Amino acid sequence: MTFKDLGLSAPLLKAISEQGYETPTPIQEQAIPVILAKKDILAGAQTGTGKTAGFTLPILELLTRSKHQDKKHQIKVLILTPTRELAAQVGESVELYSKHLPYKSTIIFGGVKINPQLVALRKGVDIVIATPGRLLDHISQKSIDLSHVDYLILDEADRMLDMGFINDIKKVIAVIPPQRQTLLFSATYSEEIKKLSNKLLKAPTLIEV
Ligand code: AMP
Repeated sequence: MTFKDLGLSAPLLKAISEQGYETPTPIQEQAIPVILAKKDILAGAQTGTGKTAGFTLPILELLTRSKHQDKKHQIKVLILTPTRELAAQVGESVELYSKHLPYKSTIIFGGVKINPQLVALRKGVDIVIATPGRLLDHISQKSIDLSHVDYLILDEADRMLDMGFINDIKKVIAVIPPQRQTLLFSATYSEEIKKLSNKLLKAPTLIEV
């Protein structure tokens, strides 16, 4: 199996080979075709499995296929993470994999000044990687427009629940369009994760690695 077999196009294949990746990891083999088929997924995957590329690559591919290329830099992808470290890490991956594509991304997390984030958002971005608390601040002060989000990814959803973000997540969901594709990644399954996935996902494909 190659990345090309999975249905990714030239700008992504180039970025992948520049990263030195030769073959897809198991989570990438399973998740990429399902995401490209526009299905929701519930994926059990630990860090180190290549899960970040597993959702970032197909979402970037779907962006290149979308018909609304004319609408410049509206937020179409929202990636929620539990911590700023993970947000920064996912943000770096998004930058790397999208380097031959015209999309812009920004990272939003708390504990730092809000002004640079306001500037980045005002300039326009396609992809936002955020922790729930600071994202809610932006929603409350109307400095972010999430009404065009087509793709929602919850990374390490179990950790977000452990950290008490459930109500923040619900408030975020309330301001993004219901007719979106949703991907939920969690290292563990609990009753809470099941409840959250029942609420957020439509007929999800289960992926376990
Ligand atoms: P993650 O599980 O997303 O945190 O990724 C773990 C590490 O695997 C990261 O350092 C990636 O750069 C690397 N990685 C992701 N996909 C591949 C691949 N197909 N081949 C080799 N390394 C990869």
